[in-house]
Amino acid sequence: MSVYRPDYCNDFRCKADKCLHTCCAGWVIGIDDESLERFGNDPEVSAKIKDGCFVLKENGRCPFLRDDNLCDMILKHGEDYLCEICKEHPRFYNTFDDHAEGGIGLACEEACRLVLGHDGPFELVSEDGAVMELPGYVKAVFDGTKPLNEKLLSFSSGRRANSKLRAEIFAGMEVMDPSWIRLLHRIIGSPVSNGDEDEIINSHEKEFTNIAAYLMYRYEGAGRFTAESVWLLADLVFHGTDIRDAARMFSGEVEYSDINIEDALDTFG
Ligand code: SF4
Repeated sequence: MSVYRPDYCNDFRCKADKCLHTCCAGWVIGIDDESLERFGNDPEVSAKIKDGCFVLKENGRCPFLRDDNLCDMILKHGEDYLCEICKEHPRFYNTFDDHAEGGIGLACEEACRLVLGHDGPFELVSEDGAVMELPGYVKAVFDGTKPLNEKLLSFSSGRRANSKLRAEIFAGMEVMDPSWIRLLHRIIGSPVSNGDEDEIINSHEKEFTNIAAYLMYRYEGAGRFTAESVWLLADLVFHGTDIRDAARMFSGEVEYSDINIEDALDTFG
């Protein structure tokens, strides 16, 4: 089956020990069955597995993540030895009848850099170089005849939660990183007006356009979820968070929790 991905995915390389927010810490690492079987024959690895997951150290780091942020398993056995989730992260896939559409998720700081920094519409390209037309809901994000603020309102059919309520909704979800909640409480304690949100979006139009396109693509045209997420990120930027950090944290908290993403898509459906 052909897998089409945005062209910027070809430039993705894990930053490994140069990564400031490694995905090998702070998250439960669930191991697929095939890898579990393989690791079962490796006493050094199997001793660090419980209930199908690596037993994280007290500081939340993967037991194979060395102090210099390199992976002991890769160094000893090569990348092919890794379990699926470690090999694949931050890649995601949406599968259709005759093809799949993939991408890289914003929870990874290098993916964030590539997605937010892309110039203009991305191309969807398969491994063998075939190009697929962008879905209409992604093309709509890149429609140069209207400002992004106007497009966001049309994606959400004119609905727009006030910033306090929106932040409270996201703060009520499962929490992985307490600093995310502290950021949301800045908005709850000092809500942002629609006018200020619009100004922030205007001043970072390229990055917010890319975020909106990423969300519309990944969630297959979930317009209101996309608009409310972009407005939430604008509120975080208004309160002093760097746009890439805001997008990365949002993704880690909302997209990479099955419960939270389902909840968010339902709430803003
Ligand atoms: S977050 Fe991204 S760049 Fe950092 S270690 Fe994970 S995959 Fe690599």
